[in-house]
Amino acid sequence: MLTSGNRKLGGRRIWGFGLPSGTPDGCPGMSATCRAHCYAAAVERYRSAAAAAYRRNLARSRRRDFVVRVRAFLIAHAVAVVRVHTGGDFYSRGYARKWLRIMRRSPRVTFYFYTRSWRVPTVRAVIEQMAVLPNCVVWYSCDRDTGVPPAVPACVRLAWLATSDDVPPAGLDLVFRIRRLRHRPVAPGSPPVCPNEDGIARTRTVTCDRCGVCWHPARAWRFPLPVIEPTR
Ligand code: SF4
Repeated sequence: MLTSGNRKLGGRRIWGFGLPSGTPDGCPGMSATCRAHCYAAAVERYRSAAAAAYRRNLARSRRRDFVVRVRAFLIAHAVAVVRVHTGGDFYSRGYARKWLRIMRRSPRVTFYFYTRSWRVPTVRAVIEQMAVLPNCVVWYSCDRDTGVPPAVPACVRLAWLATSDDVPPAGLDLVFRIRRLRHRPVAPGSPPVCPNEDGIARTRTVTCDRCGVCWHPARAWRFPLPVIEPTR
């Protein structure tokens, strides 16, 4: 159901839950830009085992006992941090409400996610209930197609997907870059870029478990990125 770690998340500290990606049914807030650059859909194309696992999770998510089963899993594996949706997104209001119940009943677990389902008003209303929970960190994903939401709750952070020729607007908390931009060093004064993608050579690969910017509750929103010494 949930899986621990991967090359981006790091070791076993962060557990991910994924669903199928790249269709309007699974990602109702999808934009043309994110569809074109969706890493999760790409993973599904070349890793059939991952695609099958995501389909199984989708079936589980539709069951009435989804909340109970996820809670049992979290307890059984002593899970401390969950990245909700390593693939997929909140595909309906009812599904989002299931995660809201899981989060409320698991106050010792930190949950975080990036979502474009903020573009669906009925789902957004549930996401904003998650955002006020002390154990949940919510990122609205934005890009050149979606723009920035006109109103953003104080506890919600904004992430921008940078493609070739767009200039991120002001007020963002974090920028992600498509693969072919990641080798370019970030220009001074630019919005903060995920240190896994900022083009700075380091002695160790930056992973989310060690970085913490996206999920660590102690790193309040709009904190600067942690200093990770570059290779000299
Ligand atoms: S900023 Fe840090 S925690 Fe967020 S995605 Fe990048 S490496 Fe992971």
